[in-house]
Amino acid sequence: MKLLIKGGRIIDPSQQLDKTADLLIEDGRVSSIEDSSNDDGLEVFDASGLIVAPGFIDLHVHLREPGEEYKETIASGAAAAVAGGFTSICAMPNTRPVNDNASVTRFIIDKAREARLARVYPVGAITRESKGEELAEMAEMKQAGAVAVSDDGRPVMDSQVMRHAMEYARDHGLVVVDHCQDLHLAAGGVMNEGRYSTLLGLKGMNNAAEQTHVARDIMLAELTGARVHIAHISTAGSVELVGRAKRQGLAVTCEVTPHHLALTDSAVVGFDTNTKMSPPLRSEEDRAALIEAVRDGTIDAIATDHAPHHPDEKMLEYDRAPNGVIGLETALGVALNVLHHSYAVPIARVIEMLTIGPAQAFSLPGGSLAVGSPADITVFDPASEWTVDVQRFKSKSRNTPFEGWTLRGHVIETFIDGERRTGTSSSEQSG
Ligand SMILES: [Zn+2]
Ligand SMILES: [Zn+2]
Repeated sequence: MKLLIKGGRIIDPSQQLDKTADLLIEDGRVSSIEDSSNDDGLEVFDASGLIVAPGFIDLHVHLREPGEEYKETIASGAAAAVAGGFTSICAMPNTRPVNDNASVTRFIIDKAREARLARVYPVGAITRESKGEELAEMAEMKQAGAVAVSDDGRPVMDSQVMRHAMEYARDHGLVVVDHCQDLHLAAGGVMNEGRYSTLLGLKGMNNAAEQTHVARDIMLAELTGARVHIAHISTAGSVELVGRAKRQGLAVTCEVTPHHLALTDSAVVGFDTNTKMSPPLRSEEDRAALIEAVRDGTIDAIATDHAPHHPDEKMLEYDRAPNGVIGLETALGVALNVLHHSYAVPIARVIEMLTIGPAQAFSLPGGSLAVGSPADITVFDPASEWTVDVQRFKSKSRNTPFEGWTLRGHVIETFIDGERRTGTSSSEQSG
């Protein structure tokens, strides 16, 4: 089986490659990248005018299966992933039951294999049932295929438990992913603490609630030698702490979500519960610091924190609605709109944070078009405009703050092992 992706602008930050060329796929692998090639007898995908990048990797996705299949299944989440250009996604453990043992880890891997869409890498829990008390079965989960551990959404408050978790994770080659939040400092908060929370009469969460745990985890990373990944970083202070840890040479990485790059707490005016997530949308100063940290390399990855919820659940009053928004099908458009089209961040840097950046943070395969690699490839149009229409999403859920937005940057096709997986696009091009 041979396929030629012809005439695209190939951007692969893993090998500092940016040129218009033909990419040949043979037996599911990248076989060559040539300035021009003979396409006699080959299946050809015309990529002229398009960007050809390594398949995108999302380190932070909630798939809701097992337990809450009415919100999302592994298959529907994986379909949303490939529609958004993601060939690999990491599945967070807060399912029912929690992925805190090898049998749940294996269940996720089996379901993903049946779906034959995006590759799904399970993230195991740090503690049993994510209760923050006893450590989960990390060694068994690692053996079954887990790539990292996290109690995302239920931060480990006991620092001694976190220390032991890091020692254990280090010994088993697992990255510790932390949703950094001091639950006492953040108690009762439903949005960012600041001018808008006062204006709206909602209880706020202070930046310090995030930063105290970022600082703690960095100190514990230094103490234990563990690899620590800060999930959905959202404040200027957190960025500063991670930057300092990196300069010290600690194994600390971090991710940012498209919604924290695009929106601020001013979006909460109007009480749309699709602006409610944890960590909350922050101030304009924080957003500016995140964009600067993208530019200077402090941030390793763009991750969606795709968090499906049923419309009935999001329809509650602001204080009572659950946290989280979906993001797989808008990630590229939002990231390009904000970072590249509005703030002139080079497109190769945006691609780096969707490919080799996340691959290295979790030591995942992929993120590169080096000859011999599995042909996981995302082809997209960086400039065409489209309008976000949730009714066209592959995800089972509809909770996006970007409904009706016009975005520039649109996924055309997603290849995994050299095979097309996108099928029909989840969004309509309007220009
Ligand atoms: Zn989280
Ligand atoms: Zn999450």
